[in-house]
Amino acid sequence: MAETNEKTQCLIIGSGPAGYTAAIYAARGDLKPILYQGLQPGGQLTTTTEVENFPGYPDGTQGPEMMEDLKKQAERFETDVRWGMITSVDLSQRPFKITADDGKVITAETLIIATGASARWLGLPSESEYNGYGVSACATCDGYFYRGKVVAVVGGGDTAAEEATYLAKLCKKVYLVHRRDELRASKAMQNRVLKTPNIEVVWNHVPKEIVGVTEGFAKKVTGVRLANVLTGGEKTLEIDGFFVAIGHTPNSGMFRGMLDMDPNGYILTKPDSTATNIPGVFAAGDVQDHVFRQAVTAAGTGCMAAIEAERFLSAQE
Ligand code: NDP
Repeated sequence: MAETNEKTQCLIIGSGPAGYTAAIYAARGDLKPILYQGLQPGGQLTTTTEVENFPGYPDGTQGPEMMEDLKKQAERFETDVRWGMITSVDLSQRPFKITADDGKVITAETLIIATGASARWLGLPSESEYNGYGVSACATCDGYFYRGKVVAVVGGGDTAAEEATYLAKLCKKVYLVHRRDELRASKAMQNRVLKTPNIEVVWNHVPKEIVGVTEGFAKKVTGVRLANVLTGGEKTLEIDGFFVAIGHTPNSGMFRGMLDMDPNGYILTKPDSTATNIPGVFAAGDVQDHVFRQAVTAAGTGCMAAIEAERFLSAQE
């Protein structure tokens, strides 16, 4: 039997940097938030290894460790952090009715959506085998580890173009592997890619297998086997790192038809705000940001969402 008597001033969905930062601020603002962690507690950072660009960690930190620290900080101010998923939301009137996977129905005065985005992967077994050991979906996060080395980026959109040009500044050589003979990226980004001397575009090819070696407990990538989509012929590139940049999918499906979104499913928020088209519903982090997608920017918008939720509630009184 579903419980329906639970009430909260602020319900947060998601446990990445946006969700936990929103929780820290909402809890310190005495909103007594409930946070549902979702499918991947800790979010995308739990799939990376070292994080060196989050301010405040002079020696860097491990992604999963940082998320554990954020969780502890949220709990220190008595955020009710729950392991579980939100399965449906009714935003037709306030308080909103939110249903969790254990059947619990919670009525929430404000809702902060921090469900993030998921990087799309190719789906090759070798891709998951070397994930975190030479395979990455984030050049800004992991590019630094490949200074002076040779890497490949797969994809032909703005993300791939941006990742390739970013990596070209650090690496000796960058192969941009694309399945067609023209890039999908904007003209400006295409020009930048084509004018960068150490980027070589490998047209009409798709990755078949990421090749590597295991040395004791350590694994490392040594190459990628590619197939030519026109001829079927194969070749292997010798590389040290492999970056997948074939797009991200915002985790916003549950809100389709309720919240305004762009054509790719990113939730639209008002300028300089995390407010959505429904008063009392705020969106923070990668579910509303396809441009920066950094832990620190997600944390920043999480903070904004909590402050806006608090001000929204004060204005209702
Ligand atoms: P896109 O969907 O635009 O591009 C994905 C790319 O990956 C395409 O070139 C696609 O090939 C390729 N691809 C998809 N699946 C596979 C696969 N299985 N195997 C090989 N290649 C594959 O995603 P982006 O992340 O690049 O961009 C998403 C949105 O965000 C866009 O609107 C983009 O403009 C925007 N963006 C804007 C930025 C900015 O303004 N600075 C930066 C980054 C993104 P194909 O072309 O053949 O379909």
